[in-house]
Amino acid sequence: MSHVHIIGGGLAGLSAAVELAPQAQVTLYEAGPVCGGRARSYYDRTLEVTIDNGNHMLLSANPYSFRYLDLIGARNTLKGPGKPIFPWYDLDDGLRWCLRLSKGKIPFWLLSRRSRVPGMDLKEVLSLRRLMKANDKMTVAECLSSGEFTRRLLAPLAISALNTDLESASAALLGNIIKKTLAQGGQACCPWVAKNGLSESFVNPALTYLEKFYSRILFGTRVSALRRENGRVISFRTFDREIVLGAEDSVILAVPAPVASSLLPELEVPNAFESIANAHYRLPYKIKAKGDVGKAGFIGLVGGMAEWVFLHDNVLSVTVSAANRYSEYSNETMLDMIWEEISQALGAVIEGSLPLTTPASRFIREKRATFAATPEQNKRRPGAKTSSENLALAGDWTDTGFPSTIEGAIQSGLEAVAALGFRSALKRS
Ligand SMILES: Cc1cc2nc3c(=O)[nH]c(=O)nc-3n(C[C@H](O)[C@H](O)[C@H](O)COP(=O)(O)OP(=O)(O)OC[C@H]3O[C@@H](n4cnc5c(N)ncnc54)[C@H](O)[C@@H]3O)c2cc1C
Repeated sequence: MSHVHIIGGGLAGLSAAVELAPQAQVTLYEAGPVCGGRARSYYDRTLEVTIDNGNHMLLSANPYSFRYLDLIGARNTLKGPGKPIFPWYDLDDGLRWCLRLSKGKIPFWLLSRRSRVPGMDLKEVLSLRRLMKANDKMTVAECLSSGEFTRRLLAPLAISALNTDLESASAALLGNIIKKTLAQGGQACCPWVAKNGLSESFVNPALTYLEKFYSRILFGTRVSALRRENGRVISFRTFDREIVLGAEDSVILAVPAPVASSLLPELEVPNAFESIANAHYRLPYKIKAKGDVGKAGFIGLVGGMAEWVFLHDNVLSVTVSAANRYSEYSNETMLDMIWEEISQALGAVIEGSLPLTTPASRFIREKRATFAATPEQNKRRPGAKTSSENLALAGDWTDTGFPSTIEGAIQSGLEAVAALGFRSALKRS
């Protein structure tokens, strides 16, 4: 039986491992003490709750993610409103609304004042077309028109999806997302988040699945060098030994881009990154919201620092994308500023009242959360195949056609499996 060595236990590596486990002997080498990489949860001793390193949202139009969750038996660990609704609050003028997309492809929602973005001009919708037709040099800002549809919907969606400021972000990458989501109708845009943490949804069930196939997971095992000869990887080094590959063996390198380029110096990879900041606030009671916010379990904010606020039992978790722009602010300042924004946005829609001062909180900055999704960086993304016949690449930074996302990472794992000649569920359009 062939033996596939997977280096890196983030979602790309786990996706490849889950796909390969029924077909080959799999060994996964993870440098850290746990798998999950940039999408994991952990018990925070100060807050005394389990939190995610970063809030992650999936949309129903993420087919590979849902297939992966089905394989590992974890689809029911996600929660969401079950319909395409997005409650919003504008911090500049205190306006509250809910975007309600029509289920089918015809966008009736654009014609209904109750469903669309308040103050929008229908002409602004043409920017969606410009984004879907954008070439690989154009930026998002070049395709947007000015108006409330842009300010209150497209700009916040673009910055969350691409994690890059709109003046430099790739229009083609955003266009690809729009083609798979908004253009397919509301059915493709239902929001989902992990109910009890990312590890409970994406990581632990995958490890249990892999155990059933006797796959080996080696934690705390950093791979520090690959040896190649005659167009093949012949061995690689971990901290305590050299692993020598047999004639049937292959390797999937599923590490972050900078690690991949240190192991394969000739490889061109994205080399500019953006951070994401997350603020978590623990309250002494379970938070219950009324109306659309209660149904959705989150709210989008416009006009401030916070972009999304997620309600999880007694924890409010906030996302701030493209956070390099706030690198001068201290964590304490950010926590206080964000708490004021939350109080403004949620004060009127939760049962009871929010504390007047910042409650127990944790601030996490993921410095290299994603590659900067610019046209220049997008060109630096390699495909899964390499010049070594038994070596394939995976990771959200490989050429998936999408920015850094869970869906991109899981798709990249399938691409690597296909590149090595194994069966894979990959369907490339
Ligand atoms: C704060 C934050 C918020 C996000 N929000 C969203 C969101 O809302 N929706 C969404 O879809 N996506 C989101 N993302 C992006 C998503 O998390 C990533 O795209 C995805 O997790 C990347 O997975 P990966 O396997 O490609 O890389 P990684 O998760 O980086 O995995 C790489 C793994 O390789 C290991 N490794 C590194 N070096 C070595 C070595 N030498 N040997 C062995 N192992 C090694 C690492 O420890 C790690 O486990 C977010 C990311 C962050 C950080």
